[in-house]
Amino acid sequence: MELTPELLGSPEWSDEIVADLNIPIVDTPFVSVGGGMGSLAMIDTLRIGGLPTDALTVLSELTVPSTTYEYLANNSQIPRHERLRSDSSSTIDCVWGWPGYALREAVADKKIGPATTVLVEPILANYYTPKAGQVFESVRREADRIGWERMLRPGVVRTVRRRRQGGYFVLHTPEDQRGAPPGSPKLRVAYRCHHVHLAVGYPGIKVLPDLQAYREEYNDFARVVNAYEPHTAVYEELLRRPCTVIVRGAGIVASRVLQRMIDDRDQNGAQTRIIHLFRTYAQGAQGDKATFRRPVKNGWAYQGFNYPKAAWGGQLRVDLEKLEGDERSKFIDAMGGTNTAPRKDWEEQLDRGAREGFYRQMVGTVKSVVPADGNAGIRTVITDRQGNEAFLDADFIIDATGLEAGIDEHRVLRDLLQYGGARRNVKGRLDVERDFVVRGTQSGTGRLYASGSITLGGYYAGVDSFLGLHYAALRIADSLAENGFGKKIGPLRSASQWWKWARNKPI
Ligand SMILES: Cc1cc2nc3c(=O)[nH]c(=O)nc-3n(C[C@H](O)[C@H](O)[C@H](O)COP(=O)(O)OP(=O)(O)OC[C@H]3O[C@@H](n4cnc5c(N)ncnc54)[C@H](O)[C@@H]3O)c2cc1C
Repeated sequence: MELTPELLGSPEWSDEIVADLNIPIVDTPFVSVGGGMGSLAMIDTLRIGGLPTDALTVLSELTVPSTTYEYLANNSQIPRHERLRSDSSSTIDCVWGWPGYALREAVADKKIGPATTVLVEPILANYYTPKAGQVFESVRREADRIGWERMLRPGVVRTVRRRRQGGYFVLHTPEDQRGAPPGSPKLRVAYRCHHVHLAVGYPGIKVLPDLQAYREEYNDFARVVNAYEPHTAVYEELLRRPCTVIVRGAGIVASRVLQRMIDDRDQNGAQTRIIHLFRTYAQGAQGDKATFRRPVKNGWAYQGFNYPKAAWGGQLRVDLEKLEGDERSKFIDAMGGTNTAPRKDWEEQLDRGAREGFYRQMVGTVKSVVPADGNAGIRTVITDRQGNEAFLDADFIIDATGLEAGIDEHRVLRDLLQYGGARRNVKGRLDVERDFVVRGTQSGTGRLYASGSITLGGYYAGVDSFLGLHYAALRIADSLAENGFGKKIGPLRSASQWWKWARNKPI
């Protein structure tokens, strides 16, 4: 039976209403929605804490937790052999953070280098960062170890609603129903649970408004691309003929895209000319002088990670927890801002590009993006720093600003804002407590939690990172234990579980 408008418009569902609609009800104490890296961190923590697989359900579109992450990393030019941004101890597969990825790489490759780098970083060497492939493999291993498949129910979550008798219903369309022909009766399953955890990742990718306007008006999605979208065809074309590419953005993704194009010049004979268009050209060191100063060179602000390390587990984390509203938002911006990682090879490429003339920086505000004369390319009309109008013609434009879509682009989150009592925080994302409970969504003794980028703007800055996902998972696990679900992980259990982890023994 189809869902009625009355049901969809009702902030609470009763068991009877759901049963009347012939929706099968499955009971489970805890559901994690998403099934990506955030769900892995959450479920891993609860399993380590002693909860059995039949107490935990993962509802996800995908079977392997790192699939979406791998897809986005690949698109933004981090293939398996390239290195990520986070450090050695940001081990998404290991809540203890030891052994870090550096030691594991040193052992696997029988090379001392990675292990010694972590001893002298960041003074005598750049931070060690793991290869993407190593992280993907470690995720698969840990998922297998904790019995991920037994907890996973593939499909799409449509709605999370409060249950009149307490707890929640999570409405799910199982995977085998997704391709059903239009008009055919839909099988949905309602998971009736006590607690829900949301880790749905990025609600979507937002292209810069002027670029999106151009794409829609001229139906040109091939020459104006977002760095998170598949855009290998652009690099293939650059190998075939000399082209000009405009890159927008000055964060880590822009660094990757530039590296890819310059590597192709250096190694594969590409003749690409790059115009790097800045809206804001960083000048002079950024951030607080005493605590998190970011050096600036040629318009780029450099910082090892997207926030200073102390934002994850040090004094800055404690400071942020005390702030509310605008003050909190400003503090997060001050610690982060647009920045990229300092890497000697990237700096060398850009310095050489500027010297040889194939990498040119421009600063300006974009007025419009239109087809160039004769549709031979794309023209970006800008107002430069002197207030003059200038044209930049290119064959391709790559948007590497990494903008995320608003949370209301995700149907489950939109629904929660509309009917579930959820509110937005100072940054327009989900308003969560310090323990990641979504404010306003309590249902009896049931709790709805969220982690990942959808909670940015809350009391913890590094939410969209491996360490942040673990931090959230630990806070949530403690909060659940206080509510009688599972137990806090004590030192003895932690030690014995680490020993199991180290030997890859199932929990
Ligand atoms: C290119 C890139 C590089 C990064 N590099 C690093 C790094 O080096 N270090 C670091 O610490 N962090 C890094 N991050 C940040 C962060 O760690 C990752 O984005 C991580 O994947 C976030 O985990 P998540 O669970 O929030 O989202 P995801 O891993 O994307 O998982 C969310 C999942 O939810 C699913 N989903 C969404 N809606 C529904 C629904 N309605 N029903 C069912 N399933 C649904 C999606 O399909 C997806 O699989 C990087 C991010 C990106 C994009």
